[in-house]
Amino acid sequence: MLIRRAEINFSDVVDLRIDRDRIVAIGAQLHAQGDEPVIDADGGALLSGLHDHHLHLASLAASRASLQCGPPQVHTAEQLAAQLKARRGAQGWLRGIGYHESVAGEIDRHWIDRHLFDRPVRIQHRGGRLWVLNSAALQLLDVRDAGDDPLERIDGRLSGRLYDNDRWLRQRLGLERPDLAEVSRHLASLGVTGVTDTSPNNSPGEVLWLRQAQRRGELLQDVLLMGDASLDGFSAEPVEAGSGLPQLTIGPRKFHLHEAHLPDYDDLCTDIRRAHRAERNVAFHCVTRAELVFTLGALREAGTRPGDRIEHASVTPTELLEEFRDLGLIVVSQPGFIAERGDQYLDEVDAADQPWLYRLKTFLDAGVLLAGSTDAPFGAAEPWRAMQAAVSRRSAKGRVIGAAEALSPEQALALFTAPLNAPGQQLPRLEIGATADLCLLHAGWRRARADLAGIRPRLTLRGGRVIWAG
Ligand SMILES: [Zn+2]
Repeated sequence: MLIRRAEINFSDVVDLRIDRDRIVAIGAQLHAQGDEPVIDADGGALLSGLHDHHLHLASLAASRASLQCGPPQVHTAEQLAAQLKARRGAQGWLRGIGYHESVAGEIDRHWIDRHLFDRPVRIQHRGGRLWVLNSAALQLLDVRDAGDDPLERIDGRLSGRLYDNDRWLRQRLGLERPDLAEVSRHLASLGVTGVTDTSPNNSPGEVLWLRQAQRRGELLQDVLLMGDASLDGFSAEPVEAGSGLPQLTIGPRKFHLHEAHLPDYDDLCTDIRRAHRAERNVAFHCVTRAELVFTLGALREAGTRPGDRIEHASVTPTELLEEFRDLGLIVVSQPGFIAERGDQYLDEVDAADQPWLYRLKTFLDAGVLLAGSTDAPFGAAEPWRAMQAAVSRRSAKGRVIGAAEALSPEQALALFTAPLNAPGQQLPRLEIGATADLCLLHAGWRRARADLAGIRPRLTLRGGRVIWAG
Protein backbone atom coordinates (compact mmCIF):
# COMPACT_ATOMS: atom_id res chain seq x y z
CA MET A 1 0.00 0.00 0.00
CA LEU A 2 1.19 3.50 -0.81
CA ILE A 3 0.17 6.44 1.36
CA ARG A 4 0.86 9.71 -0.43
CA ARG A 5 1.47 13.13 1.11
CA ALA A 6 1.24 12.16 4.78
CA GLU A 7 2.75 14.31 7.52
CA ILE A 8 4.97 12.09 9.69
CA ASN A 9 6.86 12.73 12.91
CA PHE A 10 5.03 16.09 13.16
CA SER A 11 7.04 17.66 10.36
CA ASP A 12 7.76 16.20 6.94
CA VAL A 13 5.06 15.52 4.36
CA VAL A 14 6.17 12.39 2.52
CA ASP A 15 5.01 9.29 0.66
CA LEU A 16 5.22 6.04 2.52
CA ARG A 17 5.02 2.42 1.39
CA ILE A 18 3.72 -0.43 3.51
CA ASP A 19 4.45 -4.03 2.64
CA ARG A 20 2.80 -6.71 4.77
CA ASP A 21 3.17 -5.44 8.35
CA ARG A 22 6.06 -2.99 7.89
CA ILE A 23 6.88 0.47 6.60
CA VAL A 24 9.32 -0.36 3.81
CA ALA A 25 9.95 2.98 2.12
CA ILE A 26 9.64 6.67 2.88
CA GLY A 27 10.36 9.26 0.20
CA ALA A 28 9.45 12.49 -1.51
CA GLN A 29 7.67 10.90 -4.48
CA LEU A 30 7.20 7.16 -4.48
CA HIS A 31 5.62 5.53 -7.52
CA ALA A 32 2.78 3.07 -7.22
CA GLN A 33 3.83 -0.46 -8.13
CA GLY A 34 1.42 -2.49 -10.26
CA ASP A 35 -2.04 -2.52 -8.73
CA GLU A 36 -0.81 -1.34 -5.32
CA PRO A 37 -3.61 0.48 -3.42
CA VAL A 38 -2.92 4.22 -3.10
CA ILE A 39 -4.28 6.57 -0.46
CA ASP A 40 -3.84 10.31 -0.70
CA ALA A 41 -3.41 11.63 2.86
CA ASP A 42 -3.61 15.22 1.62
CA GLY A 43 -1.23 16.43 4.32
CA GLY A 44 -3.04 14.65 7.15
CA ALA A 45 -0.93 13.56 10.11
CA LEU A 46 0.07 9.90 10.12
CA LEU A 47 0.61 8.74 13.71
CA SER A 48 1.47 5.53 15.48
CA GLY A 49 -1.65 3.53 16.32
CA LEU A 50 -2.95 4.25 19.79
CA HIS A 51 -2.50 1.87 22.70
CA ASP A 52 -4.97 1.96 25.54
CA HIS A 53 -2.80 0.68 28.39
CA HIS A 54 -5.56 -0.22 30.84
CA LEU A 55 -9.08 -1.36 30.07
CA HIS A 56 -11.40 -4.33 30.52
CA LEU A 57 -12.63 -5.83 27.24
CA ALA A 58 -15.31 -8.19 28.56
CA SER A 59 -16.85 -5.56 30.86
CA LEU A 60 -16.63 -2.97 28.12
CA ALA A 61 -18.54 -5.16 25.68
CA ALA A 62 -21.11 -6.08 28.34
CA SER A 63 -21.53 -2.45 29.40
CA ARG A 64 -22.72 -1.48 25.95
CA ALA A 65 -25.78 -3.65 26.57
CA SER A 66 -26.36 -2.36 30.11
CA LEU A 67 -28.39 0.28 31.94
CA GLN A 68 -26.35 3.31 33.04
CA CYS A 69 -27.08 3.84 36.77
CA GLY A 70 -24.86 6.81 37.64
CA PRO A 71 -23.50 10.16 36.45
CA PRO A 72 -23.46 11.62 33.90
CA GLN A 73 -26.59 9.78 32.65
CA VAL A 74 -28.37 9.37 36.02
CA HIS A 75 -28.03 11.81 38.91
CA THR A 76 -30.92 11.25 41.33
CA ALA A 77 -32.75 8.39 43.03
CA GLU A 78 -35.91 9.40 41.17
CA GLN A 79 -34.17 9.14 37.82
CA LEU A 80 -32.77 5.71 38.59
CA ALA A 81 -36.10 4.49 39.97
CA ALA A 82 -37.83 5.64 36.78
CA GLN A 83 -35.26 3.81 34.62
CA LEU A 84 -35.81 0.61 36.60
CA LYS A 85 -39.61 0.89 36.57
CA ALA A 86 -39.54 1.34 32.81
CA ARG A 87 -37.94 -2.09 32.57
CA ARG A 88 -40.61 -3.99 34.48
CA GLY A 89 -42.38 -6.83 32.75
CA ALA A 90 -39.46 -7.86 30.51
CA GLN A 91 -37.68 -11.20 30.60
CA GLY A 92 -34.24 -12.07 31.87
CA TRP A 93 -31.46 -10.26 33.66
CA LEU A 94 -31.12 -6.53 33.77
CA ARG A 95 -27.53 -5.46 34.23
CA GLY A 96 -26.92 -1.96 35.59
CA ILE A 97 -23.51 -0.29 35.65
CA GLY A 98 -21.81 2.89 36.82
CA TYR A 99 -23.73 3.28 40.09
CA HIS A 100 -22.44 5.89 42.55
CA GLU A 101 -23.68 6.75 46.08
CA SER A 102 -24.40 10.31 44.96
CA VAL A 103 -27.47 8.89 43.16
CA ALA A 104 -29.32 7.12 46.00
CA GLY A 105 -26.82 6.36 48.78
CA GLU A 106 -25.86 2.81 49.81
CA ILE A 107 -28.54 0.89 47.95
CA ASP A 108 -29.40 -2.73 48.76
CA ARG A 109 -31.71 -5.50 47.51
CA HIS A 110 -34.76 -3.85 49.06
CA TRP A 111 -34.10 -0.52 47.37
CA ILE A 112 -33.98 -2.20 43.96
CA ASP A 113 -37.01 -4.39 44.80
CA ARG A 114 -39.11 -1.30 45.43
CA HIS A 115 -38.63 -0.24 41.81
CA LEU A 116 -38.04 -3.49 39.95
CA PHE A 117 -39.00 -6.81 41.52
CA ASP A 118 -40.33 -9.01 38.70
CA ARG A 119 -37.02 -9.80 37.03
CA PRO A 120 -33.46 -10.37 38.25
CA VAL A 121 -31.39 -7.19 38.51
CA ARG A 122 -27.74 -6.66 39.27
CA ILE A 123 -26.21 -3.21 39.55
CA GLN A 124 -22.48 -2.64 39.56
CA HIS A 125 -20.84 0.19 41.47
CA ARG A 126 -18.78 2.57 39.37
CA GLY A 127 -15.57 1.38 41.03
CA GLY A 128 -16.14 -2.13 39.68
CA ARG A 129 -15.80 -3.84 43.06
CA LEU A 130 -19.41 -4.08 44.20
CA TRP A 131 -22.56 -5.62 42.78
CA VAL A 132 -26.00 -5.08 44.31
CA LEU A 133 -28.59 -7.74 43.48
CA ASN A 134 -32.34 -7.61 43.97
CA SER A 135 -34.38 -10.39 45.55
CA ALA A 136 -35.34 -11.98 42.23
CA ALA A 137 -31.64 -12.19 41.39
CA LEU A 138 -30.78 -13.79 44.74
CA GLN A 139 -33.55 -16.31 44.22
CA LEU A 140 -32.41 -17.14 40.70
CA LEU A 141 -28.83 -17.61 41.92
CA ASP A 142 -30.19 -19.84 44.67
CA VAL A 143 -28.57 -18.01 47.60
CA ARG A 144 -30.15 -17.93 51.05
CA ASP A 145 -29.60 -16.10 54.30
CA ALA A 146 -27.93 -19.21 55.74
CA GLY A 147 -25.67 -19.95 52.76
CA ASP A 148 -21.85 -19.97 52.67
CA ASP A 149 -21.50 -17.86 49.51
CA PRO A 150 -19.48 -14.60 49.50
CA LEU A 151 -22.51 -12.28 49.58
CA GLU A 152 -22.75 -9.70 52.37
CA ARG A 153 -25.05 -10.39 55.33
CA ILE A 154 -26.20 -7.85 57.88
CA ASP A 155 -27.58 -9.38 61.08
CA GLY A 156 -27.68 -12.69 59.23
CA ARG A 157 -29.82 -11.37 56.37
CA LEU A 158 -28.65 -11.01 52.78
CA SER A 159 -28.20 -7.34 51.89
CA GLY A 160 -27.90 -8.13 48.19
CA ARG A 161 -24.34 -6.75 48.10
CA LEU A 162 -21.44 -8.72 46.70
CA TYR A 163 -17.96 -7.25 47.13
CA ASP A 164 -14.89 -8.18 45.10
CA ASN A 165 -16.14 -11.43 43.73
CA ASP A 166 -16.88 -11.22 40.04
CA ARG A 167 -15.56 -14.72 39.66
CA TRP A 168 -18.21 -16.20 41.94
CA LEU A 169 -20.90 -14.26 40.13
CA ARG A 170 -19.62 -15.38 36.74
CA GLN A 171 -19.57 -19.01 37.82
CA ARG A 172 -23.11 -18.79 39.19
CA LEU A 173 -24.42 -16.97 36.14
CA GLY A 174 -22.64 -19.23 33.69
CA LEU A 175 -22.11 -16.04 31.70
CA GLU A 176 -21.74 -16.24 27.99
CA ARG A 177 -18.82 -14.29 26.66
CA PRO A 178 -19.91 -10.99 25.16
CA ASP A 179 -19.41 -10.24 21.48
CA LEU A 180 -16.39 -7.98 21.05
CA ALA A 181 -17.01 -6.90 17.46
CA GLU A 182 -18.75 -3.61 18.17
CA VAL A 183 -16.32 -2.53 20.89
CA SER A 184 -13.33 -3.47 18.79
CA ARG A 185 -14.66 -1.54 15.76
CA HIS A 186 -15.30 1.48 17.98
CA LEU A 187 -11.71 1.38 19.23
CA ALA A 188 -10.39 0.94 15.69
CA SER A 189 -12.42 3.97 14.60
CA LEU A 190 -10.48 6.00 17.18
CA GLY A 191 -7.12 4.74 15.91
CA VAL A 192 -6.58 2.15 18.65
CA THR A 193 -4.43 -0.75 17.43
CA GLY A 194 -3.61 -2.36 20.78
CA VAL A 195 -5.03 -2.66 24.29
CA THR A 196 -3.94 -3.95 27.67
CA ASP A 197 -6.67 -5.88 29.45
CA THR A 198 -5.98 -5.43 33.15
CA SER A 199 -8.74 -7.58 34.68
CA PRO A 200 -7.22 -9.31 37.71
CA ASN A 201 -9.01 -12.64 37.19
CA ASN A 202 -7.94 -13.23 33.62
CA SER A 203 -6.84 -16.85 33.28
CA PRO A 204 -6.14 -19.33 30.45
CA GLY A 205 -9.89 -19.31 29.68
CA GLU A 206 -9.70 -15.63 28.73
CA VAL A 207 -6.57 -16.25 26.65
CA LEU A 208 -8.44 -18.83 24.61
CA TRP A 209 -11.53 -16.68 24.24
CA LEU A 210 -9.62 -13.57 23.09
CA ARG A 211 -7.37 -15.56 20.76
CA GLN A 212 -10.45 -17.03 19.08
CA ALA A 213 -12.03 -13.59 18.82
CA GLN A 214 -8.85 -12.35 17.09
CA ARG A 215 -8.89 -15.31 14.70
CA ARG A 216 -12.53 -14.73 13.81
CA GLY A 217 -11.78 -11.10 13.00
CA GLU A 218 -14.06 -10.05 15.85
CA LEU A 219 -11.20 -8.51 17.85
CA LEU A 220 -8.98 -6.36 15.65
CA GLN A 221 -6.42 -5.13 18.20
CA ASP A 222 -3.26 -6.61 19.68
CA VAL A 223 -3.81 -7.52 23.31
CA LEU A 224 -1.52 -7.57 26.32
CA LEU A 225 -3.38 -9.65 28.88
CA MET A 226 -2.80 -9.20 32.60
CA GLY A 227 -4.30 -11.73 34.96
CA ASP A 228 -3.87 -13.97 37.94
CA ALA A 229 -1.15 -16.45 38.92
CA SER A 230 -2.61 -19.10 36.61
CA LEU A 231 -0.97 -17.19 33.76
CA ASP A 232 2.54 -17.55 35.26
CA GLY A 233 4.62 -19.29 32.63
CA PHE A 234 1.61 -19.53 30.30
CA SER A 235 2.11 -18.43 26.74
CA ALA A 236 -0.53 -17.93 24.14
CA GLU A 237 -0.14 -19.98 20.99
CA PRO A 238 1.86 -17.68 18.69
CA VAL A 239 0.15 -16.34 15.57
CA GLU A 240 1.31 -17.82 12.29
CA ALA A 241 3.86 -15.66 10.47
CA GLY A 242 2.25 -13.74 7.64
CA SER A 243 -1.28 -14.46 8.87
CA GLY A 244 -1.86 -10.79 9.64
CA LEU A 245 -3.62 -11.76 12.88
CA PRO A 246 -3.27 -9.53 15.92
CA GLN A 247 -1.02 -10.68 18.75
CA LEU A 248 -1.92 -11.73 22.25
CA THR A 249 0.80 -11.56 24.87
CA ILE A 250 0.65 -12.47 28.54
CA GLY A 251 1.25 -9.42 30.71
CA PRO A 252 1.84 -8.67 34.39
CA ARG A 253 0.17 -10.37 37.29
CA LYS A 254 -2.52 -7.99 38.49
CA PHE A 255 -3.10 -7.24 42.16
CA HIS A 256 -6.36 -5.52 42.96
CA LEU A 257 -5.79 -4.03 46.42
CA HIS A 258 -8.51 -2.43 48.48
CA GLU A 259 -7.53 -0.43 51.51
CA ALA A 260 -10.37 -1.90 53.58
CA HIS A 261 -9.13 -5.47 52.95
CA LEU A 262 -5.40 -5.26 52.37
CA PRO A 263 -3.77 -8.67 51.95
CA ASP A 264 -1.26 -10.08 54.42
CA TYR A 265 1.95 -8.18 53.83
CA ASP A 266 4.26 -11.22 53.81
CA ASP A 267 1.91 -13.15 51.53
CA LEU A 268 1.91 -10.25 49.12
CA CYS A 269 5.71 -10.07 49.11
CA THR A 270 5.80 -13.82 48.42
CA ASP A 271 3.37 -13.37 45.52
CA ILE A 272 5.46 -10.56 44.04
CA ARG A 273 8.61 -12.69 44.23
CA ARG A 274 6.78 -15.64 42.68
CA ALA A 275 5.62 -13.53 39.71
CA HIS A 276 9.14 -12.18 39.22
CA ARG A 277 10.60 -15.70 39.34
CA ALA A 278 8.15 -16.62 36.57
CA GLU A 279 9.66 -13.69 34.61
CA ARG A 280 6.45 -11.82 34.95
CA ASN A 281 5.87 -8.24 35.99
CA VAL A 282 3.42 -7.13 38.63
CA ALA A 283 0.77 -4.42 38.41
CA PHE A 284 -1.07 -2.90 41.35
CA HIS A 285 -4.42 -1.16 41.47
CA CYS A 286 -3.76 1.84 43.76
CA VAL A 287 -6.44 4.50 44.00
CA THR A 288 -5.93 5.68 47.58
CA ARG A 289 -2.90 6.98 49.39
CA ALA A 290 -3.01 4.03 51.81
CA GLU A 291 -3.07 1.49 48.96
CA LEU A 292 -0.11 3.23 47.36
CA VAL A 293 1.96 3.37 50.55
CA PHE A 294 1.25 -0.31 51.24
CA THR A 295 2.17 -1.32 47.69
CA LEU A 296 5.39 0.71 47.59
CA GLY A 297 6.41 -0.87 50.90
CA ALA A 298 5.83 -4.38 49.58
CA LEU A 299 7.70 -3.63 46.34
CA ARG A 300 10.65 -2.23 48.23
CA GLU A 301 10.71 -5.38 50.36
CA ALA A 302 10.17 -7.94 47.58
CA GLY A 303 12.12 -6.07 44.89
CA THR A 304 11.03 -4.77 41.51
CA ARG A 305 11.58 -5.82 37.94
CA PRO A 306 11.70 -3.31 35.06
CA GLY A 307 8.12 -3.11 33.77
CA ASP A 308 6.37 -3.34 37.15
CA ARG A 309 3.44 -0.93 37.21
CA ILE A 310 1.16 1.08 39.40
CA GLU A 311 -2.32 1.41 37.89
CA HIS A 312 -4.14 4.69 38.54
CA ALA A 313 -1.88 6.25 41.21
CA SER A 314 -4.94 8.42 41.75
CA VAL A 315 -3.51 10.19 44.80
CA THR A 316 0.26 10.63 44.83
CA PRO A 317 1.74 12.85 47.55
CA THR A 318 4.96 14.54 46.48
CA GLU A 319 7.10 12.70 49.03
CA LEU A 320 6.34 9.40 47.25
CA LEU A 321 7.56 10.51 43.82
CA GLU A 322 11.18 9.62 44.44
CA GLU A 323 10.14 6.16 45.50
CA PHE A 324 8.49 5.59 42.11
CA ARG A 325 11.65 6.59 40.34
CA ASP A 326 13.98 4.65 42.61
CA LEU A 327 11.91 1.49 42.23
CA GLY A 328 11.69 2.01 38.43
CA LEU A 329 7.91 1.79 38.46
CA ILE A 330 5.65 2.73 35.55
CA VAL A 331 2.53 4.74 36.33
CA VAL A 332 -0.51 4.04 34.17
CA SER A 333 -2.88 6.96 34.64
CA GLN A 334 -6.43 7.82 33.51
CA PRO A 335 -6.44 11.52 32.67
CA GLY A 336 -9.99 11.18 31.31
CA PHE A 337 -11.26 10.84 34.89
CA ILE A 338 -10.43 14.53 35.40
CA ALA A 339 -13.05 15.38 32.78
CA GLU A 340 -15.54 12.66 33.67
CA ARG A 341 -15.35 12.72 37.47
CA GLY A 342 -13.55 15.97 38.22
CA ASP A 343 -16.57 17.79 39.63
CA GLN A 344 -17.19 14.94 42.05
CA TYR A 345 -13.53 14.88 43.05
CA LEU A 346 -13.66 18.60 43.84
CA ASP A 347 -16.73 18.05 46.02
CA GLU A 348 -15.65 14.82 47.72
CA VAL A 349 -11.88 14.40 47.81
CA ASP A 350 -9.99 15.88 50.79
CA ALA A 351 -8.83 19.37 49.91
CA ALA A 352 -5.32 18.31 50.97
CA ASP A 353 -5.33 15.47 48.43
CA GLN A 354 -6.79 17.42 45.50
CA PRO A 355 -3.47 18.73 44.12
CA TRP A 356 -2.27 15.11 44.01
CA LEU A 357 -5.08 13.73 41.88
CA TYR A 358 -4.04 11.97 38.68
CA ARG A 359 -0.74 13.78 38.51
CA LEU A 360 0.91 13.79 35.10
CA LYS A 361 3.57 16.44 34.50
CA THR A 362 5.01 15.97 37.99
CA PHE A 363 5.68 12.30 37.18
CA LEU A 364 7.38 13.20 33.90
CA ASP A 365 9.46 15.92 35.58
CA ALA A 366 10.52 13.46 38.27
CA GLY A 367 11.73 11.03 35.61
CA VAL A 368 8.95 8.50 36.27
CA LEU A 369 7.69 6.49 33.30
CA LEU A 370 4.08 7.43 32.60
CA ALA A 371 1.45 5.93 30.29
CA GLY A 372 -2.21 6.64 29.65
CA SER A 373 -5.41 4.68 29.43
CA THR A 374 -9.18 5.01 29.64
CA ASP A 375 -9.99 2.19 32.13
CA ALA A 376 -13.05 1.53 29.96
CA PRO A 377 -15.80 0.76 30.82
CA PHE A 378 -15.15 2.53 34.16
CA GLY A 379 -14.08 5.51 32.09
CA ALA A 380 -15.37 6.29 28.61
CA ALA A 381 -13.57 4.34 25.86
CA GLU A 382 -12.45 7.64 24.36
CA PRO A 383 -8.67 8.02 24.34
CA TRP A 384 -8.70 11.34 22.44
CA ARG A 385 -10.98 12.85 25.07
CA ALA A 386 -8.64 11.51 27.76
CA MET A 387 -5.71 13.21 26.00
CA GLN A 388 -7.66 16.45 25.86
CA ALA A 389 -8.24 16.22 29.62
CA ALA A 390 -4.52 15.65 30.15
CA VAL A 391 -3.94 18.96 28.37
CA SER A 392 -6.83 21.01 29.77
CA ARG A 393 -7.20 19.41 33.23
CA ARG A 394 -10.83 20.55 33.09
CA SER A 395 -13.86 18.87 34.64
CA ALA A 396 -17.18 18.59 32.79
CA LYS A 397 -18.23 21.88 34.39
CA GLY A 398 -15.01 23.52 33.28
CA ARG A 399 -13.29 23.61 36.67
CA VAL A 400 -9.52 23.11 36.56
CA ILE A 401 -7.92 20.38 38.66
CA GLY A 402 -4.17 20.38 39.21
CA ALA A 403 -3.27 22.95 36.56
CA ALA A 404 0.41 22.22 37.20
CA GLU A 405 -0.13 18.65 35.95
CA ALA A 406 -1.17 19.70 32.43
CA LEU A 407 0.70 18.17 29.51
CA SER A 408 1.36 19.39 26.00
CA PRO A 409 -0.69 17.67 23.26
CA GLU A 410 2.44 15.80 22.18
CA GLN A 411 3.09 14.56 25.73
CA ALA A 412 -0.56 13.52 25.98
CA LEU A 413 -0.32 11.62 22.69
CA ALA A 414 2.84 9.88 23.89
CA LEU A 415 0.90 8.45 26.85
CA PHE A 416 -1.18 6.49 24.34
CA THR A 417 1.42 5.41 21.80
CA ALA A 418 4.15 3.59 23.73
CA PRO A 419 4.45 -0.16 23.03
CA LEU A 420 1.95 -2.29 24.97
CA ASN A 421 4.77 -4.12 26.75
CA ALA A 422 6.76 -0.95 27.45
CA PRO A 423 4.32 1.73 28.59
CA GLY A 424 5.99 4.99 29.46
CA GLN A 425 8.36 5.08 26.52
CA GLN A 426 8.61 8.09 24.26
CA LEU A 427 6.60 8.67 21.09
CA PRO A 428 7.87 6.16 18.53
CA ARG A 429 9.20 7.60 15.28
CA LEU A 430 7.75 6.45 11.99
CA GLU A 431 10.68 5.11 10.01
CA ILE A 432 11.61 2.35 7.62
CA GLY A 433 11.27 -1.03 9.29
CA ALA A 434 8.70 0.14 11.85
CA THR A 435 5.55 -1.93 12.27
CA ALA A 436 2.66 -0.48 10.28
CA ASP A 437 0.36 0.15 13.24
CA LEU A 438 -0.84 3.53 12.11
CA CYS A 439 -3.60 6.04 12.30
CA LEU A 440 -4.16 8.71 9.69
CA LEU A 441 -5.86 11.97 10.65
CA HIS A 442 -7.91 14.23 8.40
CA ALA A 443 -5.73 17.24 9.22
CA GLY A 444 -2.08 18.00 9.85
CA TRP A 445 -0.90 17.82 13.46
CA ARG A 446 -0.75 21.58 13.95
CA ARG A 447 -4.51 21.75 13.42
CA ALA A 448 -5.34 18.44 15.09
CA ARG A 449 -3.48 19.26 18.33
CA ALA A 450 -5.76 22.26 18.95
CA ASP A 451 -8.77 19.96 19.39
CA LEU A 452 -7.62 16.51 20.48
CA ALA A 453 -11.10 15.54 21.73
CA GLY A 454 -12.51 16.14 18.24
CA ILE A 455 -10.07 13.85 16.43
CA ARG A 456 -11.75 11.09 14.40
CA PRO A 457 -9.13 9.25 12.37
CA ARG A 458 -9.68 8.68 8.70
CA LEU A 459 -7.87 5.37 8.55
CA THR A 460 -6.45 2.88 11.05
CA LEU A 461 -3.96 0.15 10.14
CA ARG A 462 -2.83 -2.68 12.39
CA GLY A 463 0.01 -4.80 11.10
CA GLY A 464 -0.37 -3.13 7.71
CA ARG A 465 -4.06 -4.09 7.43
CA VAL A 466 -6.88 -1.60 7.33
CA ILE A 467 -9.02 -2.11 10.44
CA TRP A 468 -10.92 1.14 10.07
CA ALA A 469 -11.68 3.42 7.15
CA GLY A 470 -13.85 6.43 8.03
ZN1 LIG B 1 -9.33 -0.97 35.66
